[in-house]
Amino acid sequence: MKHAATIRLVLGDQLNPHHFWFDQVDASVVYVLMEIRQETDTVSHHIQKVAAFFAAMRAFAETLRAGGHRVNYLTLDDPSNRQEFIGNLRDIISREGAQRIEYQLPDEWRLDQLLSQLDQHLPVSVHAVDSAHFLTARGDLADHFRGKKRFLMESFYRAMRKRHGILMADGAPTGGRWNFDQDNRNRYDGKVPIPPPKSFGNDVSGIIDMVHRAGVTTIGTADPEDFTWPVNREQSLALLTYFVDHLLPGFGTYQDAMTTTSWSLFHSRLSFSLNTKMISPQEVLTAAVASLEKGTAGIGQVEGFVRQILGWREYVRGIYWAQMPGYASLNHFGHRAALPSYYWTGDTRMACMRQAVTQSLRYAYAHHIQRLMVTGNFALLAGIAPDAVDAWYLGIYIDAVQWVEIVNTRGMSQFADGGMVATKPYISSAGYIHRMSDYCKGCRYDHRKRSEDAACPFNSLYWAFLNRHRALLKNNPRMGMMYRTWERMSAQDRRAALARADRYLADVEAL
Ligand code: FAD
Ligand code: SF4
Repeated sequence: MKHAATIRLVLGDQLNPHHFWFDQVDASVVYVLMEIRQETDTVSHHIQKVAAFFAAMRAFAETLRAGGHRVNYLTLDDPSNRQEFIGNLRDIISREGAQRIEYQLPDEWRLDQLLSQLDQHLPVSVHAVDSAHFLTARGDLADHFRGKKRFLMESFYRAMRKRHGILMADGAPTGGRWNFDQDNRNRYDGKVPIPPPKSFGNDVSGIIDMVHRAGVTTIGTADPEDFTWPVNREQSLALLTYFVDHLLPGFGTYQDAMTTTSWSLFHSRLSFSLNTKMISPQEVLTAAVASLEKGTAGIGQVEGFVRQILGWREYVRGIYWAQMPGYASLNHFGHRAALPSYYWTGDTRMACMRQAVTQSLRYAYAHHIQRLMVTGNFALLAGIAPDAVDAWYLGIYIDAVQWVEIVNTRGMSQFADGGMVATKPYISSAGYIHRMSDYCKGCRYDHRKRSEDAACPFNSLYWAFLNRHRALLKNNPRMGMMYRTWERMSAQDRRAALARADRYLADVEAL
């Protein structure tokens, strides 16, 4: 076989067949993909996540081969697999006699460090190219906010709308407003039926057996009918079409709703396809905006969705590159507690937590408000160490890659960055969960009670959190109303709430 002068390394989240690398077939180039323990063992990942990544990588390798490209694919159980990047690359270099390695800029800081130093370990020249996926460059957000202390998403989002001309008409926002959140955020009332989550019936049992045989520690389950994820570009595009045709018309209205009757409501479930780059944010935006033009979805729905992709997704990536590596150890409140074991089992009497964790273990998915206002909210109120919270979110979700996971978890959800991305901590008592879901009616706890027996833990923990962190939060203008409400309570009520919280915190495992 002919030897290759250049190795092009494709990472598991770089599965974009339209990348300019693949425009031409070049016999002097070999594309390398590898399933390695260096990546499977960073934290305990959901078994569906490991299987979906490997299945998508394998499908991608087949697409390249079918296009005439040379591919070297190392499976996890290949006896020659050294289970780490540098060892495997060294072997391939000596086998191929390669003189050059090229890679696409990775999205994770750890891999960026590793790959940018490859030439210190390997006898070849090393060159990076852009991954050609995002709508912003790594440093754009830092430029946008230069000299500012707070990085407000809204200002970045509006600049992005203008820069890309998305939902803009004659220099003004389409529909006359930048933000339709006020019309959205409804509770799910059952009036509009929720279409079932689209599933692709992919058989990943062989991969799952291989992962188990290798002894990789994983979490969650993977019954064949519960594995719904797309593993190639065609399936990802089909999921996008399904979303636009069936779910987008209800997306904005119910984007914050939670219900026991559906685990994904009107959410797109496109995050895995996007984060592996099987589809691009631009094509997702184009499809959503087209549905407004066709009249199949209203501006409130489409703007709500565009905000997530053009706003939040690009924004968290910008924060990541502006703040790493320091961001990964921020702990504003000095939280130290261990993550309760029910995060791994769902075995808790709190119905909202049980629902969010159980479905996460079963489908590797929870939607944004479950992540933020149920599991994240509880972790923050209970004073769980952000490292433990991060490791959990990075493991359990199908879409969890560090650049998007950590800013959402440490920043938005745990306020461990002291307010860089969120203007106040996302905490709530049972009131919010009761208003936005049907969870409380199936719960052993009473959402109306604060300090009595069977009082909902979110209530006393909420007030105890505010009381405990007064010094850090009292000057935040957005917290003033909460502190005034606390101070208006009688001293006896305050004491009772704190005593109840102490009792719950003393045995969090029992909740
Ligand atoms: P939809 O609700 O349909 O939204 C459409 C798309 O918008 C998503 O696919 C995603 O690409 C983007 N998006 C929406 N919200 C955000 C956001 N806050 N930040 C960045 N992009 C967003 N998202 C991940 O992709 N990976 C993660 O590891 C991750 N971890 C999170 C951890 C916590 C604690 C929280 C609160 C949120 C996290 N998110 C993460 C953001 C968001 O919850 C998921 O993107 C979303 O739930 C994925 O489901 P979906 O595709 O159905 O999203
Ligand atoms: Fe959750 Fe409290 Fe409602 Fe139970 S009562 S579901 S613990 S918010």
